[in-house]
Amino acid sequence: MTSTPIPFEGIWSVLACLQTLSKIKVFAWKACHEALPTRYRRAQAGLDAGICSLCDDAVETYVHALRDCPHAKEVLVVG
Ligand SMILES: [Zn+2]
Repeated sequence: MTSTPIPFEGIWSVLACLQTLSKIKVFAWKACHEALPTRYRRAQAGLDAGICSLCDDAVETYVHALRDCPHAKEVLVVG
């Protein structure tokens, strides 16, 4: 499975203008550049099977971890 990085040139200039914590900006930048340590990325390095440990039902890409996982959806709905 391959995914295409989010086509958002100059994302850092947008993030730098946000009035939020630096760690939130760094997290968003990493998400936009698929640099989060997901199980999918670990599987690419031969360190993991790549399956989501929460739902055990899909490959844990950053999109799955942040949006598509049923457990992530619970957080998004409650939070
Ligand atoms: Zn999941």
